[in-house]
Amino acid sequence: MAETVKTAGVLYIVSTPIGNLEDITLRALRVLKEADIIAAEDTRHTGLLLKHFDIKNRIVSYHDHNKERSGPRLIERLLQGENIAVVSDAGTPGISDPAFYLVRLAKENSITVSPVPGPSALISGLVVSGLPTDRFVFEGFLPVKKNRKTRLNNLAEEDRTIVLYESPYRLLKTLKDLKETLGNRKVAVCRELTKKFEEIVSSTLDEAFQYFSSKSVRGEFVLIIQGNKIKK
Ligand code: SAM
Repeated sequence: MAETVKTAGVLYIVSTPIGNLEDITLRALRVLKEADIIAAEDTRHTGLLLKHFDIKNRIVSYHDHNKERSGPRLIERLLQGENIAVVSDAGTPGISDPAFYLVRLAKENSITVSPVPGPSALISGLVVSGLPTDRFVFEGFLPVKKNRKTRLNNLAEEDRTIVLYESPYRLLKTLKDLKETLGNRKVAVCRELTKKFEEIVSSTLDEAFQYFSSKSVRGEFVLIIQGNKIKK
């Protein structure tokens, strides 16, 4: 008797809003509706997103702390022919969040990976910074302790525009360290992009430090820093 060969499903990398829910794309809504299952970083958070758009679908958890266990299970489902949509808490999965590991695993298993593009904090910040966008480097979050100094020293030589993510708790320290290592360069500190309290502070690193020292630092941040113009 002929054996039925199952065609593997597709892993969709679905971008979701970074704050403003109007930024969801029509395709993201359709894929989230039609996928057999949604793998989410925070099932509660994604549950609220789906509820807002009146989408009923199953959500399973895939995050940094369960990726070793959850990843192979998701691959098994894909190999069985299920289509899976991956979402992160916000923005584009895989950019400073664990979806990258799942994509790598999927590719190792010859599974088709397809992007459903949309918002990402890094591009949103870059395009409103007024700093050159033709060449830039994304450095994610700077290390908190180990290798921080080395990473900063390497950045001092970088002649492309530099994009960093930072938490409100470390913003001041990072602005100070950047000024000390890179010099008093231009910066655009982008806070709460697309949200009610969106703020883009375009100044020098020193001025940005003074400004944020004078208030309580809240929200999510992307820093866009001028590259080194005097490269040897
Ligand atoms: N995958 C996401 C993306 O595509 O932007 C990034 C995930 S990373 C874990 C979260 C970080 O992105 C935050 O700590 C902050 O630095 C930045 N971020 C996310 N949303 C933001 C927003 N609305 N405004 C400014 N920065 C934001």
